[in-house]
Amino acid sequence: MLTILKYPDPILTKPAEPILEINDEIRQLAKEMIETMYGSHGVGLAGPQVGVSKQIIVVNPDSEVGSEMVYLNPKILKRKGRCLAEEGCLSFPGIYGNVTRALWIEVSALLLNGETSIFTAEDFAARVIQHEIDHLHGITFIQKFQPAEKITLTKSLRELEESYV
Ligand SMILES: [Zn+2]
Repeated sequence: MLTILKYPDPILTKPAEPILEINDEIRQLAKEMIETMYGSHGVGLAGPQVGVSKQIIVVNPDSEVGSEMVYLNPKILKRKGRCLAEEGCLSFPGIYGNVTRALWIEVSALLLNGETSIFTAEDFAARVIQHEIDHLHGITFIQKFQPAEKITLTKSLRELEESYV
């Protein structure tokens, strides 16, 4: 299990570097990120959350072991629709808030086998992928909360700030 970095770790707000070569280090990182995602009962995890500022995400929106996907350098090509729903994040324990996301996305990403995949996702899967891609740009979900919600979460965020060492 890798250690999941928590807010306000500065790596969470730093844009991640693209992956230029798929080597053993990246394959091992992907394997450990998948284990860490399952071990933490998460549905997605991004490189910066485990202290690696590289453009890699692992997702498993249907929570079924074996159906997880690893995407390198993912980019959203198209977005359709909007939907507001509650999200959580492994780097923000105890914090949940409503975030507006596209309902449908088309994504391009490099796979571990070196192929570039262009695929679509919708509903919850699209939400998870958008949340994780945001992490690669140094954007965390609290930045997308409504102002009123931000105020109600101020205390919880301050508690996380105070417990950060
Ligand atoms: Zn997150």
